[in-house]
Amino acid sequence: METAPDNTVTAIAAAVRAGERRAIDVLEEHLAAIDAREPEIHAFNLVLADEARAAAAAIDEAVAAGRDPGPLAGVPIALKDNLCTRGIDTTCSSRILEGWKPPYDATVVQRLAAAGAVTVGKTNLDEFAMGSSTENSAFGPTRNPHDTTRVPGGSSGGSAAAVAAGFAAASLGSDTGGSIRQPAALCGVVGVKPTYGRVSRLGLVAFASSLDQIGPFTRTVADAAVIMEAIGGHDAGDSTSIPEPAPVLTTVLNDEVAGLRVGRITDLPTGADPDVVARLDAAFDALAAAGATIVDVTVPAFTYGLTAYYLIAPSEASSNLARYDGVRYGKRVAAPDTNAMYMATRSAGFGDEVKRRIMLGTYALSAGYYDAYYGKALKVRQLIADDFARAYADADVLLTPASPSVAFHIGDKTADPLAMYLCDTYTIPSNLSGDPAMSVPFGTGADDLPVGVQILAPALGEAVMFKVAAELERAATAEGSTS
Ligand code: GLN
Repeated sequence: METAPDNTVTAIAAAVRAGERRAIDVLEEHLAAIDAREPEIHAFNLVLADEARAAAAAIDEAVAAGRDPGPLAGVPIALKDNLCTRGIDTTCSSRILEGWKPPYDATVVQRLAAAGAVTVGKTNLDEFAMGSSTENSAFGPTRNPHDTTRVPGGSSGGSAAAVAAGFAAASLGSDTGGSIRQPAALCGVVGVKPTYGRVSRLGLVAFASSLDQIGPFTRTVADAAVIMEAIGGHDAGDSTSIPEPAPVLTTVLNDEVAGLRVGRITDLPTGADPDVVARLDAAFDALAAAGATIVDVTVPAFTYGLTAYYLIAPSEASSNLARYDGVRYGKRVAAPDTNAMYMATRSAGFGDEVKRRIMLGTYALSAGYYDAYYGKALKVRQLIADDFARAYADADVLLTPASPSVAFHIGDKTADPLAMYLCDTYTIPSNLSGDPAMSVPFGTGADDLPVGVQILAPALGEAVMFKVAAELERAATAEGSTS
């Protein structure tokens, strides 16, 4: 019997570079998977089959001519639809951007192409990346490949589902408050939020600029390392880009964790389901068994992260989204005068959650409330960064749940915005501090659904974070093969 080919990023690139598999064959396999299941999953806003076939053919020609297409040779990749792609619709799953085609590629899109990757499509998201379930998309929800009655998480739900369903070997998402790590956890894939400034934001449609980061979804930790090496590193086009080369991660994955100090946050906010907590405990045990030392730390301000975030992120969003005025981008609704046109366009173009954030942010920034709300939230942000810095004096990494629960049912939280916001309790603090964090699949919880463990590290600590992630992946695989 023929065994299924290994469709990890690492295996595809190695085989294509060696001339053992053709990029076009790899692509056709993925397009067939899309044909089979995309109608029920709805991971994509747009599948770029023709463009992908042309890109794959060019990769195969390069290999035939003896040229090396790069470390991502022939790897099918999906892009969250808030990443600019030149001449190709970029909707942010919003009606307001209908028909808009960016005049340039995001830096990450350029870097993936330069490394030989093949873009298969643009993935669905919560409108402007505001949400935790992908139900806020103007184009309808994405469904979780593990159980299609459930959400894939959000806001990068389409990117997470695309990788979990085998539509792409990897995808990119954006993470402002957890939008890579939470859907990664719910879909059983690896999701990385790099250090703020590690990956260029040039060409990522802004939600909350001081928090937004781009990162990968993959099925293995090694794959995430390869993607990070390709997309990371300084970009003069993003003024917040850190002037450092891309992190070197693929070489640390087999390093021992013996001697590392892994922090357990003793004052972590409660609210995680028992099945999730059980998996977190098992992760601590696995790292201890591998020789790491588990240490107790406190991060007192962690618990205020959610409150601070829901003032800071909407404030920045209210400013960033002011540009959608019916003049410069996408949709315009005709009206008798300019002000009426603005109002009609924005009323028709934005969905409820986006309007809620714009109103929240405008209120928090208004004269008289600025100091009480926005100013206070900034102080809390600093407290969180200080608390993390103190914790990292005693611990090399910290472990928490990525999401408080496994994937919930579609419709469960749509009537209660606060319930939806609580999905981000454990992910938000590292956006506020700017530190890296990632979610690694670590077994299953309720209803046999995937659980993700979150690894947090200090700024520019991606290497130690990946080392721990690789160890957890090995432990999960060993556990899976004996159970
Ligand atoms: N779910 C959070 C929000 O709705 C985070 C979103 C994100 O990270 N883009 O704001």
